[in-house]
Amino acid sequence: MSSTVRVLEHGRVLKRIETSKPDRAEVESAFRTIIRWTGDDPDRDGLVDTPARVARAFEEYFAGYGQDPALILQKTFEVIEGYDEMIVLRGIRFESHCEHHLAPITGRVWVAYIPRGRVVGISKLARVVEVYAKRLQIQEKMTAQIANTIEEILNPQGVGVIIKATHHCMSARGVHQPDTDLVTSRMLGCFRDNALTRHEFLTMVE
Ligand SMILES: [Zn+2]
Repeated sequence: MSSTVRVLEHGRVLKRIETSKPDRAEVESAFRTIIRWTGDDPDRDGLVDTPARVARAFEEYFAGYGQDPALILQKTFEVIEGYDEMIVLRGIRFESHCEHHLAPITGRVWVAYIPRGRVVGISKLARVVEVYAKRLQIQEKMTAQIANTIEEILNPQGVGVIIKATHHCMSARGVHQPDTDLVTSRMLGCFRDNALTRHEFLTMVE
């Protein structure tokens, strides 16, 4: 079955990937193959429904393809009483998957911005994080995507995004470092140019 995958970003179709998108039966068959490859029997009782379950789980993990983060932010409110101080949403939880190992990345995001005339409902900031998390990711890219989207759509005086996350490809395999987390940040506008603004934001990140 041939179809087109549209990757949406910033209100436009970023790219169209001409692909033969596999149907559910093909995906389940692929997971059966992986189970056989581990050395187990995909027909034994405990595993017989696993390929279908994993396919459904993958639909959930990767629901962010085809959702447009820019559209989420487009419903904005005008600033009430000229509010132009920092707005910070702290510790937004997310689960994502690394694009190198398909292993879980779990962590939290701190998002801050200083508006220039437009503010957005705070739940929308969490939704933007979720859409980017539900794609194959590397943490550095996800950090930049969240900041860039907020900057482009809200045109604020500045944006700061910090992500702290644990990568299961590091904690459960490879170098086996379960207690490390990776911290990434992206500062734009006054968060980059003004050390006091940046400092104020950093004091709110525990
Ligand atoms: Zn990885």
